[in-house]
Amino acid sequence: MNNYKRKFLKLFSLSYLSIFLLPYNLLHSTTKKIINQKLTKEQKNIMLNESTERPFSSPLNNEKRKGFFHCANCGAKLFASNAKFDSGTGWPSFTESLPGAFKTKIDYSLGMKRVEYHCAKCGVHHGHVFDDGSTATQKRFCSNGLCLIFKPKS
Ligand SMILES: [Zn+2]
Repeated sequence: MNNYKRKFLKLFSLSYLSIFLLPYNLLHSTTKKIINQKLTKEQKNIMLNESTERPFSSPLNNEKRKGFFHCANCGAKLFASNAKFDSGTGWPSFTESLPGAFKTKIDYSLGMKRVEYHCAKCGVHHGHVFDDGSTATQKRFCSNGLCLIFKPKS
């Protein structure tokens, strides 16, 4: 076999392999991209490994000013202050997100079926959404305060 032919075969088998693996990657990976290089270890652990902050630990639980909550990683606008409500759970809670702010996936960890949501722009984890909200939308977006940055309306 000459060199040229060998190269061609190698290239052919590689591309065959990638075609085979592509659907798997598309189905099973959410692309998470760290944009804010100043994130702490705890923030990264929540955003990348879907860990959860301690309840009642976020100063945002008591945030009542008008404004918007942004992604602490990429800065995308996620929640408006008028969607925030006191759920009593110890995590910043919202009745709805801004349109298109999040994407969701079903999460079977901890032995329950929950709906996980992540930033549509950068892909990092933010929290879980439940249907037990005592609000008009019935939704309760249970957010990790460490994933959010509040910007008051000026
Ligand atoms: Zn983001």
